[in-house]
Amino acid sequence: MMVVMTPEATPAQIEAVVERLEAAGVHAKVMPGELTTAIGAIGDPEGVREMGLEGLPGVDQVIPISRPYKLASSELSHHEPTVVDVDGRRVGGGETFCLIAGPCTVESPDQTRAVARAVAAAGASMLRGGAFKPRSSPFSFQGLGFEGLDILAEVRAETGLPVVSEMTQAGLADRFAEQVDVVQVGARNMQNYGLLEVVGKLGRPVLLKRGLSSTLDELLQAADYVLKEGNENVILCERGIRTFETSMRFTLDLGAVPWLKLHTHLPVIVDPSHASGDRRLVGPLSRAAAAAGADGIIVEVAEEPDLALCDGPQQLYARDFPTFARQVEAHAGLLGKKLA
Ligand code: PEP
Ligand code: MN
Repeated sequence: MMVVMTPEATPAQIEAVVERLEAAGVHAKVMPGELTTAIGAIGDPEGVREMGLEGLPGVDQVIPISRPYKLASSELSHHEPTVVDVDGRRVGGGETFCLIAGPCTVESPDQTRAVARAVAAAGASMLRGGAFKPRSSPFSFQGLGFEGLDILAEVRAETGLPVVSEMTQAGLADRFAEQVDVVQVGARNMQNYGLLEVVGKLGRPVLLKRGLSSTLDELLQAADYVLKEGNENVILCERGIRTFETSMRFTLDLGAVPWLKLHTHLPVIVDPSHASGDRRLVGPLSRAAAAAGADGIIVEVAEEPDLALCDGPQQLYARDFPTFARQVEAHAGLLGKKLA
């Protein structure tokens, strides 16, 4: 439910409504608008309806919110689109396009440093790289773990590129809060609700990937788990879903981009690498994502993808990245965006 205050409502009256809601165990989110303040009341709608909030001083009306997701909804947040600021790199807001690039997996300091320098020189705003890898088989390379995080921190210090890396378990929280700029929640963990709550408390921006078989409603409800911890810096990522089509690794759901833009205030990026599984498709899908209104892409790049321990066939050659980046930039430019 949404409690809309009158334009004359005082801060004390707003606070009184928040206190009433919280005393009843309802999560309250105050959203100051240009003329009026609204308070999102997230809890059992029937219970909130029966609280008689309309009778409190300063309350104009109490209206139902129909969507299953609340905090992520653009209906609830009648404010500007959320802009996630990662050390000065803006994600979202319609003016910038962010290029996150790097290896699938951190394998060594030299490998990570070389690709970081190459992508930074071509306009990437952040470096991606997995240290803890969620592999389908327990016998596949699982990543370098903490050593991988140390390498990312070292390369970050050398290049100035903020780093994005996936946190696979709640027990890793302290190290991620310390060493990683954007904490990624992978597709396989999108509905790991305990993990989402821990990530929401870290105080770091979160990159939340869509589950392999999750609907967009489910993605936004997963985002609510992070947002309810008071972390507003959530970036959503469409990375392909399972469909009857098997010719590509997953089916990139590009329609998700404009749909999410309509229904949420959160920034939306696209991962063409894991969606396609094939570097030959990454260019066209990235350009399409930019033209469809995505706020950025996260793309896998390596100096020597043929030697990579994970996801070699989908990683762009670093030598091809400058041309790739210019073409994507041109497509983002169609919507008036500049590289972040
Ligand atoms: C990744 O980005 O490294 C990754 C494993 O992606 P996803 O969770 O989308 O499969
Ligand atoms: Mn990968």
